[in-house]
Amino acid sequence: MRNPKTLLPAAALAGAALLTASLYIPYPAAKLDPGAVMSLRIHDRSGALLREVLSDEGGRCRWLELDGLSPHLVRATLAAEDKDFFLHGGVRLPSIVRALVQNARRGRVVSGASTITQQVLRNVERRPRTVLAKIVEAWLAVRLEHTMSKAGILVQYLNRVPYGNGAFGAEAASRLYFDKPCRQLGLAESAFLAGLPRSPSASNPYRNLRAALVGKTGVLRRMVRAGFITPEESRRADVEYLKVVPETERFRAPHFCDLVLGSLETRARYGSREVWTTLDLGLQKKIEVLLGRRVDSLRDRGISNGAAVVMDNKNGDILALVGSADYFADADSGQVNGALALRQPGSTLKPFTYALALEGGLTAASIIEDAPEAFAVLDGNYEPRNYDRRFHGPVRLRSALASSYNVPAVTLLESIGPDILYYRLKALGFDSLEKQPGHYGLGLTLGNGEVRLLELVRAYAALASGGRFRRERTVLKRTGRDGRETSFGPEKALAVLAPGAAYIITHILSDPDARVPTFGYDSPLRLPFPCAAKTGTSKDYRDNWTVGYTTAYTVGVWMGNFDGKPMHDVSGITGCGPLFRDIFLLLDPGGISRPFPEPAGLVRASICPVSGGLAGPGCPGNVLEIFMAGTEPRKPCGGHHGFWSGSPPPRPADETGKNLRSNSALRVAYPPDGSVFRIDTVLRREYQVLGLKAGGPAADAEGEVEWWINGTRAGRAHPDEDFLWNLEPGSYTIVARAGSGRRTIESRAIRITVIE
Ligand SMILES: [Zn+2]
Repeated sequence: MRNPKTLLPAAALAGAALLTASLYIPYPAAKLDPGAVMSLRIHDRSGALLREVLSDEGGRCRWLELDGLSPHLVRATLAAEDKDFFLHGGVRLPSIVRALVQNARRGRVVSGASTITQQVLRNVERRPRTVLAKIVEAWLAVRLEHTMSKAGILVQYLNRVPYGNGAFGAEAASRLYFDKPCRQLGLAESAFLAGLPRSPSASNPYRNLRAALVGKTGVLRRMVRAGFITPEESRRADVEYLKVVPETERFRAPHFCDLVLGSLETRARYGSREVWTTLDLGLQKKIEVLLGRRVDSLRDRGISNGAAVVMDNKNGDILALVGSADYFADADSGQVNGALALRQPGSTLKPFTYALALEGGLTAASIIEDAPEAFAVLDGNYEPRNYDRRFHGPVRLRSALASSYNVPAVTLLESIGPDILYYRLKALGFDSLEKQPGHYGLGLTLGNGEVRLLELVRAYAALASGGRFRRERTVLKRTGRDGRETSFGPEKALAVLAPGAAYIITHILSDPDARVPTFGYDSPLRLPFPCAAKTGTSKDYRDNWTVGYTTAYTVGVWMGNFDGKPMHDVSGITGCGPLFRDIFLLLDPGGISRPFPEPAGLVRASICPVSGGLAGPGCPGNVLEIFMAGTEPRKPCGGHHGFWSGSPPPRPADETGKNLRSNSALRVAYPPDGSVFRIDTVLRREYQVLGLKAGGPAADAEGEVEWWINGTRAGRAHPDEDFLWNLEPGSYTIVARAGSGRRTIESRAIRITVIE
């Protein structure tokens, strides 16, 4: 048996030999593979960088070789972290001993000044902060020095070190903080960056720019001490003004980029190096500013957020998508994407109901009753009301859509069948209507289902494109890791609506006269070029919409609150309208948009504005209406005889003159409330008169009726005669009065509009 005392030194000797030999085991090259830290860069359509996305490894950089790095940054980094880098063999023994002593004294690991080599290892693999780990790290550092050149280790360091705010590596950091490639960094910028990795959170430029600038001064001082620069160079760099790119610029078009990332399949996302999107960053930024201002101006009315989408009709490209007023405002849930949020669309689905009615044989001149009417639906009685809480009697389909009356829309849907509308909306890309059609019923046309702004925009783009629907495009081109490019064409267009129906709906929605009775003359929807638009307000006033299009673009605007709080005093016109208008003025500052192209198979006919029949000599004016060939009226209007006069109202059986004070005793018999008259451009003005007619027992009892127009006495007439009044463009309130003194009674006021 051997003596254990002689065995021990032998074992120690063998151990030391093994340890020394182990230092020459090459460090595994696979761990240093730069491929693992690639990121994905998202560009707008002209190449401007929108966002650089972290790869799955948490890296955020382009891999640079030594010639891609700023020489200033290399020297600043050496001075800041490890000025003896080229002299040591991977570790500095004195600092390791110091760390061990401190550790023994304080009972925890105090990080000593690690060499750049040690830091590379720390950035490649995370290790616990224990003494053993420190020793392993030192051992690995020596091995790494034996495996790789000093320059190679420096390159590894500068490509992996974290600079804070998710920027890993020098290239990512210089793009993030200075928006330029690393190669172009000057001395001051380099010193600034080199000071960050020490304490990326304490000297985070977005939280504490001062601390980061103090760090820069410290690095410059170390560079002088190391002999890399002269004191004069340091002094100049120290006072140089540094323009740090603001934090908001890190996330340009944030909701749009989120959408693009969500649409890329996982394989495409991690297999891509660059993605060129359809976004127009210049337009996007302007709309972000406009939307922010609009929301601010509506805050006192209970609006805290909004969203806007701009689509190019010819290819479905999303040119701008703003999902909220401020992506960074946590209090207003700014990160919720309002363009994709599910909201009730109010009246914005009505045009599709009307398009189906036109396909089914109705015309823009069809007369629909706007009166209180109950519709039986699954959950009991359903009584739609108009936005203005009034009913307007018989109205032409054109006015009913333009003025967004509810009863006519429901009447039409009842005759079409709600299922038909439901399946057509699905074909128009309303994927969010996920429930069975019976769930929505007739309320579907009034917006009881929840949809997304983006869905509305692409469905309206189908109206702009002659009924051909196509889904949006967000990505034009992507480059894979292998450098191969893949281009993406527009989505396929499918014919979903009859071109004639789509055109007539467009004609109605772009007819500024047709919406006058509800929205007045100077509404924000009036633009200096042909533009079709529809507004909407959801039940309980929670959501506010304007969606519309020219030949070239479709724009959708939503305003409201993500928490669903109701707004007050806001309609589609006052809420979204001005922003909608501003966006179109941005898109077409010169007002050169063309008229909507008319498809084949349409005819025009002159119709009576009251009955919708062919206009006769006795009708109160005539309007030119468009029809899908074969649906135009064939019969002349049967309701009007004689020039400008209404037929006398039937005399009540009992004319006692009682109840004179009640309004029902006196009424305006003609024109009907809510009528719109168009001034004939050919006929001389003096011949264009309106015959006002009174009715009711009081009119006959008093023998004479006084006419008041817009609060001014216009004249008197015998109840059997028309009071003739010259047509002038404008909006009028008309009241008839009868009797005198205390016995004076007044009719209910009617409102009419005269347009040129
Ligand atoms: Zn007529």
